Amino acid sequence: LIGLPVNSVHLPATTVKNPPAPAVKGLRRLASRVSGSRRTRPEPVPVPPSTAPTVAAASDPVPVISSRPFRRADPVLRWKDPSHAPDGDFSACAMANALLRVHGIPRHGDSWDAVSSFSLSYDGYAYWDDVSELATRSTRHWTRDRTLPSSVDELRACLFYEQRRWHHFGEVPNGRGERYVWALLDALRNVVAARTVDPVSGGDRSVAAITVIVSAATPSEIRSFLDDDAGYLTWASDHSDGFVVNADRTLSPNSLMLHRARCSCIGGPAGPGRTRTGNYRKVCGPNAERLLDWCRTDIGAEPASCGHCRPGTVI
Ligand SMILES: [Zn+2]
Repeated sequence: LIGLPVNSVHLPATTVKNPPAPAVKGLRRLASRVSGSRRTRPEPVPVPPSTAPTVAAASDPVPVISSRPFRRADPVLRWKDPSHAPDGDFSACAMANALLRVHGIPRHGDSWDAVSSFSLSYDGYAYWDDVSELATRSTRHWTRDRTLPSSVDELRACLFYEQRRWHHFGEVPNGRGERYVWALLDALRNVVAARTVDPVSGGDRSVAAITVIVSAATPSEIRSFLDDDAGYLTWASDHSDGFVVNADRTLSPNSLMLHRARCSCIGGPAGPGRTRTGNYRKVCGPNAERLLDWCRTDIGAEPASCGHCRPGTVI
């Protein structure tokens, strides 16, 4: 699984070989201390795909060979308050789900230290009753068909677990393990982007932003389209006076460009073999101010303004 030895796993509980990084030294000390204090907790152990017979490692206390793998109970999310993080060993660096923003999620090119710090901002042990089982199921699905969990809690729990796993290995993720971590981060970014464009969950928005939503012809109108040309083109034809932020798939701040919905740069069916929402995400709104507010709040950046359709002339 994800480039790790699966049938013989000996995890040193306190090994720390990662290169030192001043910015996270305190966090690493915390992680090391926590690691040492968690000897009684089951350590991360990759599980072979269930398509193969379950064969325990020879060094396991109770070797078991079975053609019907034992199935652990479904993991249960114990902490469901999105506004506050639970107390625990990682609470000093915790970030509640409601505070999570797209621009706070590490991007490709960021260091493992940045990913590691982010991953520890969600204490999977405190949120879930069996984060090990949750993470194991996720890696199994990823290995089989590249599917990932769809909720913020599951994705952050898996990231947390990967951080602990690699920390125990004393290594930086590589190969499939690295790709899996980045896939989790990309999936989380997509879920957070989709979540925060829904005004129903926008309880932390400013009064001004809420006023804009209420005064719009139809509330709840910010939509994000990815790999959905049909949905995007339908929206564009229904909102010819609307606005679109074109962005790369990962919503990089420097990729944002504001257009009018009818701008020929972004509108109309794509040419043969091309897509409108494959390489670029379309974040759409009937109101430019509302769309700009979303960019500031959730991406942490102002979009550039298209020189062709000049959307800034009406703002
Ligand atoms: Zn344009």
